[in-house]
Amino acid sequence: MTDTNTAIPHKPHRGGIQWNNLNWSVIIGIGGMHIIALGAFIPGTFSWSGLLMGLFLSWVTAGVGITLCYHRLLTHRSFKTPKWFEYFLTTCGCLAWQGGPVTWVGVHRLHHKHSDTDMDPHSPNHGFTWAHMLWTLHDKVEGINGHDAAKDLLRDNGLRLLDKYFWVPQLILSIGLLGVGYAIGGWQLGLSWIIWTVAIRTIFVYHGTWFVNSAAHTWGYQNYEETGEKSTNLWWVALWSFGEGWHNNHHAHPRSAAHGLRWYELDPTYWAIVVLSWVGLAHTIVLPRPDQMPDATGNKAPKPAASTTTAIDPPENITTSSATPPAA
Ligand SMILES: [Zn+2]
Ligand SMILES: [Zn+2]
Repeated sequence: MTDTNTAIPHKPHRGGIQWNNLNWSVIIGIGGMHIIALGAFIPGTFSWSGLLMGLFLSWVTAGVGITLCYHRLLTHRSFKTPKWFEYFLTTCGCLAWQGGPVTWVGVHRLHHKHSDTDMDPHSPNHGFTWAHMLWTLHDKVEGINGHDAAKDLLRDNGLRLLDKYFWVPQLILSIGLLGVGYAIGGWQLGLSWIIWTVAIRTIFVYHGTWFVNSAAHTWGYQNYEETGEKSTNLWWVALWSFGEGWHNNHHAHPRSAAHGLRWYELDPTYWAIVVLSWVGLAHTIVLPRPDQMPDATGNKAPKPAASTTTAIDPPENITTSSATPPAA
């Protein structure tokens, strides 16, 4: 991993809009989704089939694609899976239109390495709206070179290809939905599916992911003592993002496949990893040791030493185990 501390000779710019540094393809993509979503206000464009498919694809793209694959598998290697299945899961992540896997993983690793410092790509220290979405609209946020922090993924031809053409699966899905909708129920149903299953679903998933960076570094509680960063556990972000909102636990144990560590911290993505292990599609699942779990008394536990290292450093103090749900 490139040492970005030495690569940047000055304090990088963060916060606010830099008009001469905007990424117009991202702005047109995100803006276009919002404009299409406004079609929901046109009478006759609602359909139950569109809404239900949108909810299902929210889980496929956010729960499986982003949370399980981009984050826990590709960024932190919380478990192992066959290569063909990794490519399938990565394609689900591409459908979320949050960028290619190499870029996403690299930027997120930089967030762990520089959490809530001036080097963090998205910290609320530079404004809540910056951490939530403004940073995504910029062409090149100084100090960010996601690919430098994800060279292990760049060595994989399949992942490199998916990174370059991440926008294609969503495009094919959209054309398919429009065509099948038209064939079944005419233009009205085709349009309804584009609005609810593509546009509104994509926006819903955007904000679920973005709130992890903004709200789960602002509000909520902490199971682990602070070591300079502000990550929190926040129940509604966890619900929205399929378990990612237990973000203080995650910063304490970056490689853990489970983010919810108390019995009431529901973590559907960890449950999905356990189910995958039952059918042989997940193994070598990383979990905290029992003595590293949150303090049962409710007091903040000390952060494990690994929290001060980068997210991809060898997990000295984290054991691998079979898929046993963590005790509360
Ligand atoms: Zn964070
Ligand atoms: Zn992470």
